[in-house]
Amino acid sequence: MQKEMICNGCGRKLRCSDDSGIFLEDAFVAEKAWGYFSKKDLTRHRFILCEECYDDMIARFAVPPDVEEVTEL
Ligand SMILES: [Zn+2]
Repeated sequence: MQKEMICNGCGRKLRCSDDSGIFLEDAFVAEKAWGYFSKKDLTRHRFILCEECYDDMIARFAVPPDVEEVTEL
C-alpha cells in the first residue's frame, strides 16, 4: 500500500507515480527524540519538508548547512 507523504511546511502532497507508487521527488525527513535536558522531555518529533520548503528553511539559517557530494544514497 502507498504511504502518503505530505510536506509539513506547505501541506502539499508529494508527487508519486500512480501505478508504481514510487516518489518522483525527494524530500527532507527530520526526526528527533528529545531528551531530559530539553523542554520537550522524551517526545519524538518528525516532519517532512519538500525541497522548496527546505530551501526556505535553510535560507533563514545564520550558517548554511554542510554540503558534500555523495556518490550513492
Ligand atoms: Zn513544502
